[in-house]
Amino acid sequence: MIFGGDSRHLDISFRDENPPQTVTDILAACGDSNAWDLPVSRRICRLLEIIQNTTAEPSVEAVTHCRYCGEQTSVELLIPDLKKLEPEGRDSIEVDSFRFRHPTGRDQALWLGADFKSVEEATVPIAQTLCESPLPEDRQLVERASVILQENDPLVAFRVDFVCPSCGEKQRAALDLQRLCLNILRSIQEGAFRAIHRLAAAYGWTEAEILRLSPRRRERYLRLIDGASP
Ligand SMILES: [Zn+2]
Repeated sequence: MIFGGDSRHLDISFRDENPPQTVTDILAACGDSNAWDLPVSRRICRLLEIIQNTTAEPSVEAVTHCRYCGEQTSVELLIPDLKKLEPEGRDSIEVDSFRFRHPTGRDQALWLGADFKSVEEATVPIAQTLCESPLPEDRQLVERASVILQENDPLVAFRVDFVCPSCGEKQRAALDLQRLCLNILRSIQEGAFRAIHRLAAAYGWTEAEILRLSPRRRERYLRLIDGASP
C-alpha cells in the first residue's frame, strides 16, 4: 500500500495531539481493520512498511542531538534491521512469576487519556495494565518489570547508538520511532497535496483522476510543469 495514493489518506489529521489515534487511522486507511489491538511494535513495523513501499527507500533518517556538545546529527536507520527487532512470537514476558503482555495501540490510548504527570506516576498503572494477574504495588518489582519489558520490546523503547560527528563521543539516545514515522508520513501527505494542487491547476484534472495516476506518472507530469523533460 502506497501512502498518499488514496483519498482516505488525505483525510488523516496529523495535527491533533493523539498519536495512537493517528497511527490507527493510517493503518485502517491502509487496510488494517484491527489496528487498535495490534502490539505497538507491530504498528510501528506496519508504518515502516508503508513508508518503505511509498518512498522505495530501504531506510529512514532520524535527527538526534549529541548529549556532550549539543550538535544536531542525523542517523540512518535501515528498515529491514528495525523490523528484525519486533518481538514476534513472544506474546508475554515473565518477571518474578508475573506474566506481562506487550502494549497495544489501545493501551497507548488509555495511558494518553490518563494524562500522567510524570514517568514515576505512570510506571505502576502501566505495569498493572500489562500484567495478566493482579500486580502488588511493589515498587521494586514494578521497576524491574518495566526495565525487562523495555528491553524485550526495543521498537517501543528504541535506543540508537551513534558517534557524534562533531566531538567524536560514542553514545546511545532514546528515539521515538512512532513519532518519526508519523513525521515522515505527514510530509508524504503534504507532498501529495502539493502534487494534486499543481496537477489540478495545470491540467484541470480532478483529485480522483490525479490519485489514479501511478506515483511515477504523477512525478513525470510534475517535471513537465517545471519545464524539465519528463
Ligand atoms: Zn558531540
